[in-house]
Amino acid sequence: MERISEVSAERGRIAEEVRRRRTFGIISHPDAGKTTLTEKLLLFGGAIQMAGAVKARKAERHATSDWMAIERERGISVTSSVMKFHYGDYEINLLDTPGHQDFSEDTYRVLTAVDSAVMVIDSVKGVEPQTLKLMEVCRMRNTPIITFINKLDREGMEPLDLLAEIEDKLQIECAPLTWPIGMGKRFKGTYSLYRKELNLFRSGQDRLPADLVTLRDLDDPLLEAHLGLQADQLREDLALLQGAADPFDEAQFLRGNQTPLFFGSAINNFGVREMLDAFVEIAPAPRPRETTTRMVDPGEEAFSGFVFKIQANMDLAHRDRLAFLRVCSGRFTRGMKVIHHRLGKEISLTNPIIFMAQDRTGVDEAWPGDIIGIHNHGTIKIGDTFTEKEPLRFTGIPSFAPEHFRRVRLLSPLKAKQLQKGLLQLSEEGAVQLFRPLGDNSYILGAVGVLQFDVAVARLRTEYGVEADYEAVNYAVARWIEGEDRRKLAEFESYYGNSLALDRNENLVYLAPSDWELKYVMKKWPEIVFKSSCEHL
Ligand code: GDP
Repeated sequence: MERISEVSAERGRIAEEVRRRRTFGIISHPDAGKTTLTEKLLLFGGAIQMAGAVKARKAERHATSDWMAIERERGISVTSSVMKFHYGDYEINLLDTPGHQDFSEDTYRVLTAVDSAVMVIDSVKGVEPQTLKLMEVCRMRNTPIITFINKLDREGMEPLDLLAEIEDKLQIECAPLTWPIGMGKRFKGTYSLYRKELNLFRSGQDRLPADLVTLRDLDDPLLEAHLGLQADQLREDLALLQGAADPFDEAQFLRGNQTPLFFGSAINNFGVREMLDAFVEIAPAPRPRETTTRMVDPGEEAFSGFVFKIQANMDLAHRDRLAFLRVCSGRFTRGMKVIHHRLGKEISLTNPIIFMAQDRTGVDEAWPGDIIGIHNHGTIKIGDTFTEKEPLRFTGIPSFAPEHFRRVRLLSPLKAKQLQKGLLQLSEEGAVQLFRPLGDNSYILGAVGVLQFDVAVARLRTEYGVEADYEAVNYAVARWIEGEDRRKLAEFESYYGNSLALDRNENLVYLAPSDWELKYVMKKWPEIVFKSSCEHL
C-alpha cells in the first residue's frame, strides 16, 4: 500500500510542477523591441534589478571565446540562451532567439522546444519578413502565439489595418484583448476588453494605482473624464471591432489558429504586465510530446527529455560543449543515470546547469518544461533523447532548408582528414549543414543565416587546426527529395544529377539556383515530394 501512495504522491508533485510551468520564446523582426520586452518581463519576474542588464549582457557574455568575438564585433547575439524566472506562482522559461538578419538555424530550432510564443510587432512597421519566417516554424507544431503590438508611443499604422495585415500575411485570426486609445503624442493608454478597464498611459513613469480605471460600461462618464474627445473615438473603434475581429476563443488559440492581441510600449513598460498576466493564465503548460512510438505525457513519472541545441566552446579553456535539453516528463535530479538511446549507453548527468536570467548555476532538480544544460564532449547530437528506461525518440526536431550556400576551400592541403572530421562534427551539432554533391568531391555548406559560415571557419581553425575559406556557388534553395514512384525518382536523379547532393545522413537533396527554378521543377515533377525540412537524425 505504501508503494502506491508514494507513487501517487510523486505523480501529484509532477502534475503540480507541470501546471506551474510556462516555456516560451519571443519571435520578432530585429528592432521591433524583443530585447526591451524581455528586459521588462525579467524585471517583473524580479530576475534582474536594473533595466539595461539584458542589453549589457548581450555585449559582455562569453567575452573569452574566440568565435564569440564575431558576435561582439557585430554587436549581435549569435546563440540563443535560456532565461528562467518566477512570476507569481509560475515558473517561466524564456528561450531567447537571436533576432538579427544573421540569425541561424538555432533560432528556428529553439522554437521546437517551446510550448508557446510571444510575437512582437512594431506598430510603425507592421509584419516584417523575419516574423513571417519564424511564424512558419511555429506553424509546424501549431504553437499558440500571443501578440504584443509595440511602440504605440509612436505614430504607427491604424490598429485595424494592423489586424488586417497580420491576418492576411500571417494567416492567423486576431482577437484583441486590449485596444489602444490614440497613438504617438495622442496615445492615452489601452482599454481592456476582458476587464472593462482603462489603463492610462504616462510616458516613462512608474505606474500609479489611479492609472487603472474600472468602467461600469462604455457609457460611463469616466470615459470622458479621462479621455476627453478621444472617448467617442474609442466607442466607435470598439463598435467597429465587434464586426471586424473575432472574440477570444481559447481552443482556437491553443490550436494556433487565433492570436490574442495586446497593445503597448515596451520601452515605457506599458501594457507589458497586462500581457504577462494574461500569458500565464492562457498559455499552455508543458504538453504531451510525440515520439516515434507513442505520445509522452509530461505527468509521467519516468524522466525523459531531448536535446534541441548544442553550443560549443562557451568556455574556450575547457573546450566544452553544452547540450540544451528540454525535460519532457518526470522529475530530473542531479546525478541521475539515464539512457542515451542513440548510443545505447547509460550515462550519468552529473553536472547539469540551469539557466537563470543572469548566470548559469548548478541544478538539483528540474521538471517538464525546464531546460537544462549538459556538458558534452562530442557524444551528444541534436535530437538525442534521454530517458530512464524505455527506448524513445522524440520527433519534431527538424533541420530546416538552408537559404545560403558556400563551397568549402581547403587552404592547408595536408589537412583533408581533419577538414572532413570538423565539417561532420559541426554539421552533427547543427552549426551548419553539410552537403556532398553527387557530381564532384567538394563540400557544400548550407546555412539559414550567413553568420553560420563565419562561425564554421573560425571553429575549423581553433578546434581542428584547419585553414579554410569559401567560394560562391550558384544555389539559393534546398529541398529534401522523396518519391514513392522509384522509376520517377531515378529519372529525376539522372536528369538533375548536377543539382543533387547528399546530406550528412545520405538523404537526397535538390539544390536550385532560385525560387523560380524550384517552382518550375516542382510543377514539372508532381510525383516528387520536395520537403523544406527534414527530421534531425
Ligand atoms: P530587438 O532588436 O527586437 O531586440 O529590439 P530592441 O528591444 O533592441 O529595440 C529596438 C529599438 O526600439 C531600441 O532603440 C529601443 O529603445 C526601441 N524601442 C523598444 N520599445 C519601444 C517602444 O515601446 N517605443 C519606442 N518609441 N521605441 C522602442
